Amino acid sequence: MTVMITGGAGFIGSHICVELMHAGRQVVIYDNFANSHPEVINRIRRITGTAPDVVKGDVRDVNTLISTLSAHGCSAVIHVAGLKSVADSVSKSAEYYDCNVVGTLRLAQAMQQTGVRNIVFSSSATVYGEPDVLPLREDHKLAPVCPYGRTKMQAEELLIDIAHSLSPLNVAMLRYFNPVGSHESGLIGEDPNGVPNNLMPYISRVAIGRLPALNVYGNDYPTPDGTGIRDYGHVVDLAAAHIAALDCVDKQRVLKVNLGTGQGTSVLELVDAFARASGKMIPVTFAPRRPGDIASYYASAELAADVLGWHAKRGIAEMCRDAWNWQRKNPNGYLDQ
Ligand code: NAD
Ligand code: UDP
Repeated sequence: MTVMITGGAGFIGSHICVELMHAGRQVVIYDNFANSHPEVINRIRRITGTAPDVVKGDVRDVNTLISTLSAHGCSAVIHVAGLKSVADSVSKSAEYYDCNVVGTLRLAQAMQQTGVRNIVFSSSATVYGEPDVLPLREDHKLAPVCPYGRTKMQAEELLIDIAHSLSPLNVAMLRYFNPVGSHESGLIGEDPNGVPNNLMPYISRVAIGRLPALNVYGNDYPTPDGTGIRDYGHVVDLAAAHIAALDCVDKQRVLKVNLGTGQGTSVLELVDAFARASGKMIPVTFAPRRPGDIASYYASAELAADVLGWHAKRGIAEMCRDAWNWQRKNPNGYLDQ
């Protein structure tokens, strides 16, 4: 049975494809390539030995979704496609609601029309907002502080309502914390357009010499070294969790699970780990706090262990090693064909 993976050409989606294909599943990538490079398909083929089926389409295009789900005999969808920049979600909020909320609704409608019942959805820890208590458990209140987080919360809400409708879907919502690293081959990885917003790709570009220094946004947070703390997780571990979620999505109508390690790491700790993994100096400059940033958050990983039987296997050293391996082998990302 085939799994359709929206956003399958992107950073996380491409790693999910590889894990699915290694597990013997058929996949069809459904992506509009708005934030990905066609070369990724070739790289997936080089890793797995098989070229995945690919449909170039938008998640808001119900007709193309219906024809793809039908033609490929899909039994489930992993819905990864979305826009993910917190800053852009403020300046281009309508675009974010259209892609992330309307796109999720159109996909759910296409699934209802084709009788495909099971969906695993890429949600985000940003749905929680400022934590009342750490680690963050799935029953923590949802109070996102930016439009991006609100689009993810609204997509979750509409999927939950559809799960209880007369034409129900089974829904697993996976709340990612901070996915980083890359496949150990160094053939696929994170390749943001322009100057990276996120910490790990920024550090990688400093290490390879494409950027002069890392701006550390705030060193006066109430954390041991004053810099922000996040729960970084290896993207290959994260990808494996999707297979576990596919295997149990139809046993519970609605599942909401954090995908995190339960460990917090500060900006300066990650810089140190990356310097050790790469043997490169990472110059840092202290800069003011980034608006909207939260001092510290990390996941409770208990529910993922209980319901998915999943836990992260790789630590910070492996995340840095693999992020550096990707950057070193592809200094210009997928442009280095
Ligand atoms: P990415 O941008 O690398 O991948 C997203 C993919 O979706 C891209 O290939 C893009 O071309 C495609 N896409 C975008 N809009 C589309 C549309 N309308 N129709 C079809 N395809 C479309 O991002 P990523 O880091 O791989 O993130 C994947 C998902 O995980 C996103 O939904 C994101 O919100 C979520 N997420 C990411 C992070 C993170 O730190 N990377 C954290 C939490 C949640
Ligand atoms: N960060 C930083 N410099 C950067 C990018 C990020 O100091 O160039 C910090 C940011 O303030 C936060 C942490 O790194 O404390 C993780 O940021 P990222 O954007 O990767 O993830 P998010 O904040 O979305 O969880």
